Amino acid sequence: MSNERRQADKWLALRRRMVDEQIRRRGVGDPRLLDAMMAVPREKFIPSHVRAAAYDDRALPVAHGQTISQPFIVAYMTEKLSVTPDARVLEIGTGTGYQTAILAALAKHVFTVERIAHLQQQAAARLADLNVSNITMSCGDGSLGLLEHAPYDRIMVTAAAPSVPGHLADQLVDGGVLVIPVGGSAEQTIVRVVRQGQRTTETPLLACRFVKLIGQEGWPIEKQSR
Ligand code: SAH
Repeated sequence: MSNERRQADKWLALRRRMVDEQIRRRGVGDPRLLDAMMAVPREKFIPSHVRAAAYDDRALPVAHGQTISQPFIVAYMTEKLSVTPDARVLEIGTGTGYQTAILAALAKHVFTVERIAHLQQQAAARLADLNVSNITMSCGDGSLGLLEHAPYDRIMVTAAAPSVPGHLADQLVDGGVLVIPVGGSAEQTIVRVVRQGQRTTETPLLACRFVKLIGQEGWPIEKQSR
């Protein structure tokens, strides 16, 4: 067996264990989501100096002081987003593109916004390499959403906001769902927001820790903690 093949088998075994022990066993049971988590090679989204920890049960550092979320948090937030195969999804905070790949496996199309151009370019290269084609990537302040393709059936934000950005709620269809970490800089809560007509209802779900959403409806840049 070639070294490359042996390495690929090793990643696959680690991925299977991650899905089983960190995700399924903690109560995330949606079979389409579990299949997507099994199909996306997480190691390809992790910088080489921490790649050995790709399937560890934790968030990992990536470039520019940002992080890739813990696998369980990716699965949990995606499940709470209730993504249907016909959904148009907006994601804010592309980062490595890992969460983008999971969403693209479940939805019809994913629009994703990242504020740091270098991260966006690296994510674009990775996703092209994996032949993920039902995505539109853009660079800018996603706290304002992405008006040009609105409205969206689902919106996921993977950076923490001080409160639910009004622009994002406004860009949801009637009956649309937004999942976002909201709170202070040290700790936040994952919140599920459902839009009904002009009203929204917010349900707090789980304590979490994300990097900050920087922007007009996020945190000001000078107060970034790292
Ligand atoms: N979901 C990502 C991890 C996101 S880390 C993954 O799977 O890898 C949070 C990301 O949000 C960072 O890359 C950060 O640069 C980005 N971000 C912060 N504020 C933003 C904003 N206003 N608009 C778009 N992206 C933002």
